[in-house]
Order: sequence, then structure tokens, then C-alpha cells
Amino acid sequence: MIKGEVDMGELPSRVSIREVGPRDGLQNEAPVPTEAKVRLLDALGRTGVGRIEAVSFVHPKAIPQMADADEVWAAATKVDGVRYSALVPNTRGAQRALAAGFTEIEVVVSASDTHNRRNVNRSVDESLDDIAVLIAELRAAGATAEVIVSTSFGCPYEGDVDPRAVARIVDRVVADGADRVSFGDTTGMATPHRVQAVVTAVRERHPDVPLLLHFHNTRGTALANVLTALELGITEFDASVGGLGGCPYAPGATGNVATEEVVHMLHDMGIDTGIDLDALLEAAALAEEIVGRELPSGVLRAGPRTRLVRA
Ligand code: ZN
Repeated sequence: MIKGEVDMGELPSRVSIREVGPRDGLQNEAPVPTEAKVRLLDALGRTGVGRIEAVSFVHPKAIPQMADADEVWAAATKVDGVRYSALVPNTRGAQRALAAGFTEIEVVVSASDTHNRRNVNRSVDESLDDIAVLIAELRAAGATAEVIVSTSFGCPYEGDVDPRAVARIVDRVVADGADRVSFGDTTGMATPHRVQAVVTAVRERHPDVPLLLHFHNTRGTALANVLTALELGITEFDASVGGLGGCPYAPGATGNVATEEVVHMLHDMGIDTGIDLDALLEAAALAEEIVGRELPSGVLRAGPRTRLVRA
């Protein structure tokens, strides 16, 4: 350790970021043209990021923002070395994703019944039955299946979510063949305390299943949550360029943690992400231009801490 440097303890030396701006981000913004989505995907593909959630294959009536998923994906540059994924709600979506050539596919269930019913009009158990079928279909087609457990850190309708309930969902989907599990902080209710509780509850029962965390910065705790997760040995995170997403129509509903804020913090801690922060900031500026509103990223506003002001 260099004299004067802070010992950051036992933290991972490398973190894998999945960029979710093109899907989770844009799905929660006012619709933008196909061509703009392609430009954003291409800009992100050039940042060195290892994974990008590109589109979702959902019914256009349910989510008009993703109605052009096939066109967007057909026109996007598939950058060598980048793993692209798509989110699907059902078998029809899975078929579209597979036909488009995706081999990494995500499906969603909420950790709380009320949120799941509001979303898909089914109980959690009913959704888990559907997901078991979907996982089998995806794996039979040679794709991997990731189950996203939304509202893992709290539900806007039910409040606190019991970490054991989250762990039971993991039990079920792992038994059904899920390749990976991720935990969504859908409305920004996670805190370091909650992160510790959920990760510990799941890790106790599933020490070897790859876990990915997805934070929103709704209440300003996203980077604290990332740091807590790093201390628990988590090395995979979702983040959204510029902080794209969150519903701009709902008061206070800021979106996903901004990718450049996570990368900026990690690099300063000596943790490698493979991402070129300057290229990422260019993509963030493009994202802001595309949606036509100021995005909530502090690093986009102020620039990285290494960018000095002329004295
Ligand atoms: Zn999100």
C-alpha cells in the first residue's frame, strides 16, 4: 500500500457492469425514434462495457417505447466481446428474442404479491409457474435464463419485503434451472442495511449462484448500496447511462443509478470495469440529447474528479 493511501479492505479487483439504459432506461422515458436508440446502443458498445441489456420483446400496447425492438436490434452494431441481453415477459416474447438471435434472456417476477399483481395480474406463485416453463423453453433453445426479482428490497405497496421471501423465490427458480438471478430495487427502497439482509439470506442457501444487483437512486442510496454489495463480494451490477429511466412523469421517481457514477467511483477505488469513462460520458451526453431532458447524473454534470478546473 502506498503511504497516505486508504486501505479499502478486501474488495473485488474487477466488477462487471451491465448497461441497461437502452432497455430499462428508455422503456421508462417518453418514446424516442428508432434511429436514436440505435445510436445510443452503438455508442455504448464502444465504451468497453462487457454487457448491454439491449431491448425487451413486449407487446407494443403494453410498452410502446419498445415496439420497435426488432428494428432497433437489426440495425444496431453488435460489438465483438459485448454480451447483449433481452428481457421477455412470456413465451411469445421469448420466441421473438430467440429469433432475433439473443442467447442471454431475462424474465421478471416481483418479490411481493401486490406488485406482481399490479404488473402482470398474477400472484407470485402463478408467475413462478410461468417462469419455470419459460426457463425450460429458453434452455432447450440453447439460451441462458436470468430471473430478475423486482421489489427485492422493498415494495411500494407492501413496504418491507422479507429477505427470506426473496430467498425462497431464488430456491424455486434455481431448482427450475435459472442460470443467474438478479435483484431489482425497482422503486429505490434499498439501503445498505437491506442489501446486506437480502444478499446474506440468498448467499446462505445459494453460495454459488451468480447474483447481480440493480439499484435505483430514488432516495440517494445507490452508490452506498453498491459499496455495501462490494464488501459482500458481489461483482455484478446493472447501471444506466446518465441515470436514464425512472418515470419522468411520476414525481420523485428518479431512475437507475448512473453508469458513469458507478464507474467513476470504482475506478478511483482501483476496481477495474473495462470501461473507458470518457467514452461513457460521451454516451451519457448523447442519452441526454436523445431524451431531451437533463439527466440526474452528477458525474455527467461536473465531470470526473480528475478533470481539473483551470486555476
Ligand atoms: Zn431499473
